[in-house]
Amino acid sequence: MAILEIEVEKHATARIGEEKKAGSESRLHSAAPLESNPRAIVQHNFNLAASALGLSEEQKLLLKTPFREVKVQVPVRMDDGSLRVFLGYRTQHNGARGPAKGGIRYFPNVDEEEIRSLAEAMTWKTALMNIPFGGSKGGVNCDPQQMSQGELERMTRKFVARIHHLLGPYRDIPAPDVNTNPQVMAWILDEYSSRHGYSPACVTGKPMELGGCPGRAQATGRGVMHILAEHMKACGRSLEGLRVVLQGFGNVGSNAASLLAEQGCEIFAVADIHGAIISKEGRALPIGDLVKHVKKTGSVVAFPATKPINNQDIFQLDCDVLIPAAMECVLHAGNAANVKAKVIAEAANLPTTPEADEIFRSRGITVLPDILTNAGGVVVSFFEWTQNLQQVYWDEEKVNAELYRYLRRAYRDVVDRAASEEITLRQSAYEIAIERVARAEMLRGV
Ligand code: NAD
Repeated sequence: MAILEIEVEKHATARIGEEKKAGSESRLHSAAPLESNPRAIVQHNFNLAASALGLSEEQKLLLKTPFREVKVQVPVRMDDGSLRVFLGYRTQHNGARGPAKGGIRYFPNVDEEEIRSLAEAMTWKTALMNIPFGGSKGGVNCDPQQMSQGELERMTRKFVARIHHLLGPYRDIPAPDVNTNPQVMAWILDEYSSRHGYSPACVTGKPMELGGCPGRAQATGRGVMHILAEHMKACGRSLEGLRVVLQGFGNVGSNAASLLAEQGCEIFAVADIHGAIISKEGRALPIGDLVKHVKKTGSVVAFPATKPINNQDIFQLDCDVLIPAAMECVLHAGNAANVKAKVIAEAANLPTTPEADEIFRSRGITVLPDILTNAGGVVVSFFEWTQNLQQVYWDEEKVNAELYRYLRRAYRDVVDRAASEEITLRQSAYEIAIERVARAEMLRGV
């Protein structure tokens, strides 16, 4: 990692321009102020912590600059015979502590800035968890809801064909993220292995039959449950009876909801991209039935014994805990003052803008930061990778026990430092992470 290398391949077509325009419009639909963007969030969090650590300008520059970025053309023959050219991105932010690690998402908003920001957040997350990885992220600017399974498979395979030389078990290891799942990971494994030989450790979040890890699909949601439980325990409470509101009911949101409901939390309002619902009687929603409803209909909308509410109003409901589990920038200067939750558990990446963070701090609302709260997935991805490399496999009980051990340790590290320095949990988490990566960079020599 001696050289900082920025590699950008430029390919564009009129069709791609149209898709990007559609993507930026859909971010505006989230009603966030225009200055809200994932880059501003991660830069603010980094600058605050790095300055408190007393890092030099050179160190900051080194840690902020992505190691490598690519933007590739992904041509796909669609089912109707037409050719579409999508744009694919992969950013490897930092690899000082190990191979880069980060998900791949399929979404209309995907662009360089978003992927760069999420890659950087992954560097801090893996460092905070003290697992031997750096940070990366990737994605394709597309609308997977409008694509067939065959189109998604051809797009995934072409994307991997364009970037496989940058991936690998000791280089950069993708995983699931928004709108990608174990099947997509299986195609990545197949496409990579067909060029490099059988390589199960080249990707995590795979199906069990291909070397996946038991508990990986639930791991991010399980982590949200553990971090919230640790926090409530520290406040002298349990999860029992907590009134919870959730935005996002995909992999992370639905698994967090199921596990929290098992522990006695009352989740009474949920939103997804299609709409939001609230229990008519204000009682806890039966999460098992809601999961079945979403599997059948594709959305939480029209779930029995609920009424629809405005998607944005979900953030203003009176509750104990608010869990954003969808996209970035959803809590911002425009809605933070109306949030009534006492605790915000960030299951999504970068959901809170710096302005909202400041409002929450001044109002005494605790924010459990994303790089801690949603780190369960990458921890179990680390277990999956090590097992693939050794061809030794753990059972789910061991995976879950080890996951809890990693999360509890990280939670304690964050809380102890926050208490001793009188800083927020987020600043504490960033300081711990940045310190570890800065030290690794220094030891390796630049
Ligand atoms: P997913 O695709 O499985 O689910 C996303 C959910 O968000 C869906 O229910 C979707 O309808 C909803 N959503 C999207 N846009 C929305 C909007 N504007 N309003 C309301 N709901 C909206 O994705 P996921 O894997 O569950 O990821 C969710 C978040 O968690 C992302 O921020 C992701 O980066 C983060 N994350 C995921 C993992 C993982 O292991 N999958 C790990 C760490 C962090």
